[in-house]
Amino acid sequence: MAGNRMDPWVDSYAQRAQGLTTSAIRALFSVAARPEVVSLAGGMPYVSALDSDQFADIAARVVREQGAVALQYGSGQGDQTLREQILEISGLVGVRSHPDDVVVTAGSQMGLDLVTKIFCDPGDTVIVESPSYVGALGVFRSYQCNVVHAAMDEQGLDPQSLREGLSENPRVKFIYTIPSFHNPAGLTQSYERRKEILAIAQEFNVPILEDDPYGLLGFEGEPPKAIRSLDDQSVIYLGSFSKIIASGLRVGWVIAPHGVREKLVLAAEAATLCPSNFSQLVVSRYLAEQPWQQQIKVFQELYRERRDALLQSMQALMPLGVTWTVPLGGFYSWLTLPQQLNATNMLPRAIGSMVAYVPGTGFFADGQGAQNLRLSYCYPDPARIEEGVRRLSGVIEAELELVDTFGVNGDSGPSTGSAHTHIPKSDLV
Ligand code: PMP
Repeated sequence: MAGNRMDPWVDSYAQRAQGLTTSAIRALFSVAARPEVVSLAGGMPYVSALDSDQFADIAARVVREQGAVALQYGSGQGDQTLREQILEISGLVGVRSHPDDVVVTAGSQMGLDLVTKIFCDPGDTVIVESPSYVGALGVFRSYQCNVVHAAMDEQGLDPQSLREGLSENPRVKFIYTIPSFHNPAGLTQSYERRKEILAIAQEFNVPILEDDPYGLLGFEGEPPKAIRSLDDQSVIYLGSFSKIIASGLRVGWVIAPHGVREKLVLAAEAATLCPSNFSQLVVSRYLAEQPWQQQIKVFQELYRERRDALLQSMQALMPLGVTWTVPLGGFYSWLTLPQQLNATNMLPRAIGSMVAYVPGTGFFADGQGAQNLRLSYCYPDPARIEEGVRRLSGVIEAELELVDTFGVNGDSGPSTGSAHTHIPKSDLV
């Protein structure tokens, strides 16, 4: 056995585990978790807005009245009643399906993992937006996929760039997109854009993996119609209760064409035997007994107020040359720094100034994003958000002065942000 003193098994791991690397950023984020730091980094839903007594009551009744089911193994595909309720919710974004085509998962993260597992051999290509969800990139990397980025414009995934990605790469297995209130870009595809993207996918005969955890968290008007509402054969749809009820329940779902659904159930059974019956029954009761649409409105209002706080304070405080996206829902805004700045190199100074963000490179598989960072407004209250922006603006100003004086951005050497920038767990969301 070779190995080293830290890990005797270092030479034994599968190749797919080589993508699971760590970085200096992890240590920084453990500092960022301190209460004196304003964290605009993690995308953690504000679960304190839920009535915890209500959940305690539901959980107690689930155990008392349905204990024999709740505490037992269950169906690999998920509870039948919950799958029907899921279709009621998905109907709000125009998705109509049969409960047989719904698979309940431990969050949509598991859906991402299962879909990749059944479609991708090492070296197969997936096309993703630029930037894309860090947790999805981690999954694609762990299955040794070739990740190809397609550009975004203010309407989301750019059709021309998508077409190029599809033309130039053999064995594209699917197009991964987050059409509504994108993580991390904060952008939303228009209805026209969704139709265009779908038409291109159909032309190339490549399925779309549509990830929609934020679709019901829009700040104005009706929720955007899912791409899956336009075609139920070419689109695999991922949904989640994490943002509309509670992420700790770990309940999400996949709605897929029949053949894909069959494979997914087998893969899900191999991974976990079945989703948690207890969590499913809690969700199911909550949906049956509580005014959940009202609770979603509460979340929408809360996040809108926080979005406004972020945008207003950035407008007032950010130095010239910093730009950002204006999210119409969800949790995130995507910032672009003046060209000479590097968001990864700047992070230690930001944390020293008691504010945290996620540097842009983590959202790319190819080292792009040094000039970008993601801010999330879902967790801190508006006053903390303003304070966080004040601190961050001060850090950016100081960086700009450094560049003015010395002509280079602070730290020397290559950016620690690379294809393998590791983002710690709580910031993966
Ligand atoms: N997709 C996207 C775009 C996300 O932002 C997240 C986490 N916030 C997930 C999937 C995974 O969420 P969950 O597993 O909690 O449903």
